[in-house]
Amino acid sequence: MAWLHRCSLGTAVAVVWALVGASTVMAQNSNSWPVVRLVGVEYVDVRAIANRYNLSASWSAQSAAVRLSDARTRLIFKANSREFQTDGVRAFLGEPVVRHRNSLYVSRIDVVTWIMPLLQPGAGVPRSSRPEVIAIDAGHGGPDAGAANRRVGVNEKTVVFDLAKRLKLKLEGRGYRVVLTRERDIKIPLQRRPELANRASADLFVSLHFNSLPSAPAVRGIETYTLTPQGLRSTADAIREPDDRVVVPGHRFNHWNTVLSAAIHRRLLASLHPIDRGMRRARFVVLERINCPAVLVELGFLSNAAEARKIATPAYRTQLAQALADGIDDYRSSISGRGNRLRAKLMTDETTPWPTL
Ligand SMILES: [Zn+2]
Repeated sequence: MAWLHRCSLGTAVAVVWALVGASTVMAQNSNSWPVVRLVGVEYVDVRAIANRYNLSASWSAQSAAVRLSDARTRLIFKANSREFQTDGVRAFLGEPVVRHRNSLYVSRIDVVTWIMPLLQPGAGVPRSSRPEVIAIDAGHGGPDAGAANRRVGVNEKTVVFDLAKRLKLKLEGRGYRVVLTRERDIKIPLQRRPELANRASADLFVSLHFNSLPSAPAVRGIETYTLTPQGLRSTADAIREPDDRVVVPGHRFNHWNTVLSAAIHRRLLASLHPIDRGMRRARFVVLERINCPAVLVELGFLSNAAEARKIATPAYRTQLAQALADGIDDYRSSISGRGNRLRAKLMTDETTPWPTL
């Protein structure tokens, strides 16, 4: 609610209190941050984030970066960069970090939709129940084979479907009910996939893909996508687009999308040790019209020979399924309030000395 930031906070809270009662006030308060408008966007001083979460802030003049940390958490922001680090994991903001008055600033929407879910997963609008029904979406199918590596003899539609079945078995073994958006090698239109999940009352939606970049066969690694929140740019967009402001059903889950993304991405990194290509955001059709938290994972590049050979082995796909199931379990722990911080924490650059402060 933009007006909340254009009038005095006290007045706004008083009005909201009078109209709708205490629970809404709590929610509004927790999403309220002191903002300054820079380059036409609402920004929050990183020191305000440090204050709220009791993190110590260290500034590196050399790399124009700020580290916010305590014993369990480390966030690193760099001036003019959309990339940031959370406990050694890469992620991409919608707006670049801005240097202003001897501090760094993160856009307010990024703070609310990235930083708050990462630091306080359990603080989102309560989900009604633990996730029980998981929709697994094996990408492509039928005449649409997706990416392929002919040398290795592997194509995307086949391996994602195989992976979907492995993941289904693992999840069913842990007590989840699983629906597949496709049960065989057929083409399912993109819009139809979230519809099928919605009809099955899915509590989570996980879309499985493998990547390809034939022009750069050295590129490899794993990416985890969630829906770009309204008002932000997608990771791949260099400039703001007219549709950035369009609101879709998936936006109700901005907070839980981030929690789910972090849970799954961290498990994938911890288990498989791939190149970390980061937690990213995009307006993928399958993530827009969904009535539950949703991610789309790009689990490796078939255009990279070494990665394609691994993906072609059933053993590796079993490992992928295991990591995905563990990530879903971590998410479930966050929902139930047991895991206020996600378990699969990575501090991969813990031994790298921070530049002189
Ligand atoms: Zn794909």
